[in-house]
Amino acid sequence: MQHQDTKLIHLGRESSKKIQSVNPPLVRASTTTFPDLASFKSSYQGITFETARYGRSGTETTFELQSTIADICAAESCIATSCGLSACTAVLSTYAKLGGEILIQKDCYQPSINFALNVLIEYGVKVSLFDDIAELNQLITRKTKLIFIEVPTSLTMKLIDVKAVASIAKRYNVPVACDSTWGSPLFFDAHKLGVTISIHSATKFINGHSDVMLGAITGSYTDLSDIRQWCEKNGSYAAPDSCWMALRGLRTLSIRMHQHQRNARYIAHWLNKHPFIVRVAFPALTSDPYHSLWKKQFTGAAGPFTIELKTCSEAAFTHFINSLKLFGLGTSWGGFESLIMPAIPHHERSKDKLPDKSRLVRLHIGLEHKKDLRDDLAQALEKLKT
Ligand SMILES: *Cc1c(COP(=O)(O)O)cnc(C)c1O
Repeated sequence: MQHQDTKLIHLGRESSKKIQSVNPPLVRASTTTFPDLASFKSSYQGITFETARYGRSGTETTFELQSTIADICAAESCIATSCGLSACTAVLSTYAKLGGEILIQKDCYQPSINFALNVLIEYGVKVSLFDDIAELNQLITRKTKLIFIEVPTSLTMKLIDVKAVASIAKRYNVPVACDSTWGSPLFFDAHKLGVTISIHSATKFINGHSDVMLGAITGSYTDLSDIRQWCEKNGSYAAPDSCWMALRGLRTLSIRMHQHQRNARYIAHWLNKHPFIVRVAFPALTSDPYHSLWKKQFTGAAGPFTIELKTCSEAAFTHFINSLKLFGLGTSWGGFESLIMPAIPHHERSKDKLPDKSRLVRLHIGLEHKKDLRDDLAQALEKLKT
């Protein structure tokens, strides 16, 4: 079997052969036309999102991106969606059955949880949150339709034992969906750990250039069959332009991930000893409570992590954030540039004043030179003294 690095370069390029280019062409379409009635009819027998039928079910560009992602995620099949959140909501919606129950890990990407708690419950599904394996064991019943986890959890960076989740799920014959975005397909092999349905916000590392919104769901054809139908019925759609950009981004995923890792480890290690920092939540650090689980489940560490600052005033905090020159202030991550953001729930982000204690900040360590990133953080952290 070929190494992931080689696959990333050579997969998904069948269509380029027809035009003798290295990079595949971008195929846009609403209407797809057929040479005769027989081929028109047979397009309706093909797999939705993998057969040219109508623009909504994708073009060759969509299919090439999906087959590449499926392959590098060690899955049979992939469904591309409009963004990471729509991938999460498609999976959650598929299993939202009247009288059934969905179990979601606490601290998962908040918009995913909000969708379940605010939208899905209106349809008569029960939604419960669990924090760890013990709580999952207590909550799971014959009515459970889906277990939804995320490793590590957004902002809090908690790691759950995925194999343990999968073995509990197996006893009840329940699928496990996992938001695998942080590790990227290169550092986290979700299906190997027993995940049935793996989700990536391809907006992040897969595209990697902060200019595309896209989601991806991977699994076997059987395990994705209900989700595929749900997506088809709901008019779920990934734009070929976005798929083309993401396929182009994927070519460099490996070198990007390794540079994110080198830089993030260096910065996290340095911050861990910084006098103004209480805690660095980054599982690749030996001091992190999830370090041993991380070593078991991941083959690398990605760029985003959370730090807790020592108590400081709102003015000092503002001064710190505004003094950074290389770290952009913004949500999201996975692009080439470093980012910073107050690590607070979505619904509190517009508040005037936050408590002075336990200020959490989320960093995304980009591809700049690590020493420039350190120097920028060092000068900005000095502002916390004021
Ligand atoms: C960003 C993110 C999402 C949502 O992806 P979008 O493409 O922004 O919709 C979902 N899960 C995780 C873990 C994320 O970080």
